[in-house]
Amino acid sequence: MKILVTNDDGIFAEGLWTLVKELRNIARVTVVAPDREQSAAGTSVTLWQPLRVRKVNPMVPEVETYAVEGTPSDSVMLALGNLVKGKVDLVISGINYGLNLGEDVYISGTVAAALQGYLHGFPSLAISTARGNSHLDIAAKLAIILAQKITASSLPSNLFLNINLPNLPLAEIGRAQITKLASKSHINMVEEGNDGKREYYWLVRQRQNKTTDKETDIWAIEQGNISITPLLANLFDEPSVSFLANLCSELLQELKSAQGRL
Ligand code: MN
Repeated sequence: MKILVTNDDGIFAEGLWTLVKELRNIARVTVVAPDREQSAAGTSVTLWQPLRVRKVNPMVPEVETYAVEGTPSDSVMLALGNLVKGKVDLVISGINYGLNLGEDVYISGTVAAALQGYLHGFPSLAISTARGNSHLDIAAKLAIILAQKITASSLPSNLFLNINLPNLPLAEIGRAQITKLASKSHINMVEEGNDGKREYYWLVRQRQNKTTDKETDIWAIEQGNISITPLLANLFDEPSVSFLANLCSELLQELKSAQGRL
């Protein structure tokens, strides 16, 4: 089995190496990850400057390891397009330091890296744990079990899972729960300040920990469950089609008459 491992916390993050240490027992692992912290980089890719890569000494022996001066998405694109020869069986992003729930998936570098794997046609997992989690080994063991099950089964190759684990010892974890994304995971705020010379702003995100929807990822984590959310990359919104049909039918005509008036 061949597995590409990446993350958004940077190549020396503890979560990544806890994962690799376990995975290398069952697979040939290649690590291609950003050379520094890239959390909240989202789906950003570097197109306007060259990407530099360094082969670095792995923190687990005999694992081919590359540090990329770029984003998590850059790392996966570079890995699958050049550094890793042939196909991989799985792409795993993580283990991230911090949960990625609800709207987090739109800004998370961890999830974006898995998205790139999925867009390249490989089954991909994003794995995250609560900050300060002292049970990274549980997430790593879970990754092994899932990797074996996914590659041995006839599950569709376009599998893209966002997995989150509560900060609990194994005996206290309730169950593994299939979830949907919570629609509202944060309150977004802008804080203003002045450093004596200029004004500045901080984008502040405050996690909303309360939800009543028992099907969501936030609820699952609050209950002490493992949350597994199947994702897809298509943002197409079917229910809006009929609503927009009327609006669209006259649109070009209106545009033409508007242009005549300008
Ligand atoms: Mn991160």
